Amino acid sequence: MWGEKSYLDYSWLLERAYKYLPEKPQRNKGERFILPQFEVIISGKKTFIVNFKQVADKLNREPRLFLRYFLKEIGVPGVIEEQAAALQGEVSPRTLNRLLERFFKEYVICPVCNSPDTILMKEKKIMYLKCMACGATSPVRYF
Ligand SMILES: [Zn+2]
Repeated sequence: MWGEKSYLDYSWLLERAYKYLPEKPQRNKGERFILPQFEVIISGKKTFIVNFKQVADKLNREPRLFLRYFLKEIGVPGVIEEQAAALQGEVSPRTLNRLLERFFKEYVICPVCNSPDTILMKEKKIMYLKCMACGATSPVRYF
C-alpha cells in the first residue's frame, strides 16, 4: 500500500520539516521566527487578506483550516480566492493582525520548547500541536 502518492506526500512533509529548521541550534527558537503581517485591502464591503496563503505557508498551516480560525473568531463568512482570503464585511487590518498573533501563540508555538516548528493536528473534535523540534504533543482549544 506504499504507493507513489504517499511517498510524495512523505517527502513533501520532510522537505517542509527541514525548511523550518534554523541554521544553527538555538535554545529559544521562537524568538528567531519573524511572524509575517497580513496585507489587508478593504473594498466593496469585503475585506481581502492579500497574502493569506503566503502567511499560511510560512506558518506551515493548511489554508482552509487557518481561515476557519479567523472566520470563527470574527464571526463572518469568507472564502479563499487564489492567494487571498476574502471576508464578508469590513474588518480592520489591526484586528486581523492581532488575531494572527493570537493564532501564532496558541496554535503554532510549542508550549514546551517555544519552537514554531510544529504541526497542527485535528481529529474529530480534538486539536493538538505536534512539535517537530522536541516531539511534544500539546492539546489546544478546538476551533
Ligand atoms: Zn517543542
